[in-house]
Amino acid sequence: MSEQPHVLVIPYPAQGHVAPLLKLATKIAEHGIKVTFVNTEFIEAKVMASIPEKAKEWRLIKFVSIADGIEQEEDRKDFAKTRDTMLRVMPGKLKDLIEKIKQSSENEKITCVIADISARWALEVAQTMGISRAPFIPFGPACLALSFHITRLIKDGILDNNGKAMIDGLISISENSLPWKENELCWTCRGKEKIQKFIFESMRSSVQYVKMSNWVLSNSFYELDSSSCDLVANILPIGPILATNNSWHLAGSLRPEDSSCLNWLDEQPLGSVIYVSLGSTTTLNQQQFEELALGLEFSGQPFLWVVRSDLVKDSIAEFPDGFKERIAGRGKIVEWAAQEKVLAHSSIACFVSHCGWNSTLEGLSMGVPFLCWPYFADQCQNRNYICEVWKIGLNLSLDEKGIVTKDEIQTKITKLLSDASIKENALKVKEKAANSLVEGGSSFENFKRFIVEMKSI
Ligand code: UDP
Repeated sequence: MSEQPHVLVIPYPAQGHVAPLLKLATKIAEHGIKVTFVNTEFIEAKVMASIPEKAKEWRLIKFVSIADGIEQEEDRKDFAKTRDTMLRVMPGKLKDLIEKIKQSSENEKITCVIADISARWALEVAQTMGISRAPFIPFGPACLALSFHITRLIKDGILDNNGKAMIDGLISISENSLPWKENELCWTCRGKEKIQKFIFESMRSSVQYVKMSNWVLSNSFYELDSSSCDLVANILPIGPILATNNSWHLAGSLRPEDSSCLNWLDEQPLGSVIYVSLGSTTTLNQQQFEELALGLEFSGQPFLWVVRSDLVKDSIAEFPDGFKERIAGRGKIVEWAAQEKVLAHSSIACFVSHCGWNSTLEGLSMGVPFLCWPYFADQCQNRNYICEVWKIGLNLSLDEKGIVTKDEIQTKITKLLSDASIKENALKVKEKAANSLVEGGSSFENFKRFIVEMKSI
């Protein structure tokens, strides 16, 4: 038998999936386990481009890539085509990779495959090859718990077969957990029927993959949402999965980080800066973009704003006339930031966020209050947890035309920054998150158990 256990880690090829798994992979490798991180060739090139030259010399984990089968770059924009091609091509490539690793030395074998629950084909390959499996859940335990109730909700006539709510009002899956609003179920994707159906089917079938696995690794901690964790039998919350000293340079960014914002933050007063980032995929229309710009300007606070080159839908973002001159010195705009470092900086006052699960965990782990601006999927329920359960943020409301106006942004920033109880709650949640990660804490002990069990396979 091989002296050292060897784990394959396989993310779904998207920002919010690669980053936490890369941090987890590093954490596992820090425990003396051999880790091979399997990206698609397309994603690997991006991850490598974002790692500083100096950090490339030193590797705790091994990177390999496999083809995703997509030949025309144009096809990546076609969601269904991408998904079908990947499903057709990637299982075979993964199988070949595992065979190759096995043949590389007599003692070499893969102990476990850790794959994003959204890359379930990898779990199937592992099962077929008799390898232990651990799906990684990149969203909150509440979504996984909801998946376990889909069959019953359909049977009771609360959902139809496509996941559409058949009732108005709240959908409850247990007495203690936060109910779901009928138009905010975690597969909701307004105007994008195909994607909505895909997310729904994925959530529905995730139950089967969870059941056939040895461990279910959740990027959360038990105390954050114990009611949902209690609804999933073999869940192992091991989060928040944050960068460690070894993974700061391997944060898994698919875009180059602009580190100039960290020096800029050093120059700002303590607890003064509004950090604005709507994640890796959210888009705004030009009118909404301008409202946000003006809302930030009118707030009178310093701000750091992540404006991705594709933030404005189908065109290049145009700032309001004279905006950049007026905010010079007070506002910093970057294409991509080292978000965890930014949120940990003492000059940050609050986080205007789309409430993606990673951003939610990163913000709450740093004790930063939220201004919530969710768009789709699990983001609305994450917002509900932030505002109603943990009480660490406020919601930005849409006007009758579906716009978050500059006045709403300015008013809510002022309200949030003067709310001492939200700040106090945010610090309490931060403490709980930190406690879960130290010896004796829930996530620490769960992770230890996972490592021990893996080493004994
Ligand atoms: N992120 C980052 N720099 C940025 C904006 C985002 O590193 O300027 C990272 C962020 O730290 C998080 C991920 O991108 O880990 C976004 O994941 P999330 O689940 O919040 O949202 P998604 O992009 O999947 O919608």
